[in-house]
Amino acid sequence: MSITTDPKLRSFIEIPPDSHFPIQNLPYGVFRNNSGGTPRVGVAIGEFVLDLSVLDEAGLFNIPELDGKKYFHQPSLNAFMSAGQKVWKKTRERISQLLREDEATLRDNDTLRTQALIPLSQIELLMPVEIGDYTDFYSSREHATNVGTMFRGKENALMPNWLWIPVGYHGRASSVVVSGTPIRRPLGQTRTDDTQPPVFGPSRLLDFELEMGFFVGPESKLGEPIPIEKTHEHIFGMVLVNDWSARDIQKWEYVPLGPFLAKNFATSISPWVVTMEALEPFRCEGPPQDPTPLPYLQSAGKQAFDIHLEVLLKSKRMEAPVRICQSNFRYLYWSMYQQLAHHTITGCNVRPGDLMASGTISGPTPDSYGSMLELTWRGSKPIRLSESETRKFLEDGDTVIMTGWCQGDGYRVGFGEVIGEILPALDMEF
Ligand code: MN
Repeated sequence: MSITTDPKLRSFIEIPPDSHFPIQNLPYGVFRNNSGGTPRVGVAIGEFVLDLSVLDEAGLFNIPELDGKKYFHQPSLNAFMSAGQKVWKKTRERISQLLREDEATLRDNDTLRTQALIPLSQIELLMPVEIGDYTDFYSSREHATNVGTMFRGKENALMPNWLWIPVGYHGRASSVVVSGTPIRRPLGQTRTDDTQPPVFGPSRLLDFELEMGFFVGPESKLGEPIPIEKTHEHIFGMVLVNDWSARDIQKWEYVPLGPFLAKNFATSISPWVVTMEALEPFRCEGPPQDPTPLPYLQSAGKQAFDIHLEVLLKSKRMEAPVRICQSNFRYLYWSMYQQLAHHTITGCNVRPGDLMASGTISGPTPDSYGSMLELTWRGSKPIRLSESETRKFLEDGDTVIMTGWCQGDGYRVGFGEVIGEILPALDMEF
């Protein structure tokens, strides 16, 4: 147990047991004041952000491992993420120390405390990372089986490669957006009637995908695979991911190269990056792997994390959202370590800030399916939202909220939320 994850640790800041941001979490984000100003790096603690640039100015990050570098007067986490595990550990220990109930430095310094601790209501959370490349995997066996069953039948549900390869595709980094960014319904080609030519127009089968993603820290060299036992050194932390998908565009375009425009219009992430150090106490066994993966994908020990996940939906007419899915990150068949080892086995290099998403995280029961496609079984079983509303896929004005947390004894290490509202398609003439 690291000294920063001890369940008994308490901060001088009052934090309720259902808060996502107790002293055991300390997720990193980039923010600026509501009134504007310079973007900088902070850490969430209860209902506050701790401004690390202020602490740095006050000389509180004067530790040898940081080498005098200004990691926190930055509009992204990239520089800090590239610094590696030793720097992350020392920084986290210092932040944890400063927030402890028995530590006077910040607690008893009114001026510094007022400058450094800003209520979350007074700040705007920005894109935390400058993302160079975005890859999306397909690592939930349940999701792959469900989708395969719908499109190819039960017998051919899983493709022959699926149990051998962490299947994925290279996505678009340009359209990864931070929580709160509205999502415009995409235009595209679809073919609903196989006897007719395709038609052009707004996607009518708009969907979410409940995913999580990890950010790459230190880079790897072109031509040099990351051995699976070293992959953990390259993983900084995790966020919630909503990989918005247009199912009708996808169905027509995906043969033979896989997802393209059905996925490139938007991907939303949560603004707080929860570090692997904070998640360590929630490590657990993933599903058993049979057949045994090839040697370059084999690793010992607990490879999964117990992260409870939920999806909520709110239409324009509803006052409060309803929960439509409960899943868990631990259901994923392929681990993050296997994903990264596989991604780089060819010698493909990774860089600080690269985002690797898990693929839709579906569990074994129908209420744990991580997409509308599966929850409504391709629209054949609409979801009831209220007395007067049902859904097969997403409609204009719908807001999708994803949240997730690890449940400790009397506290939660949470991810906050990733939220997005669907805007109507552009009315364009072609
Ligand atoms: Mn996806």
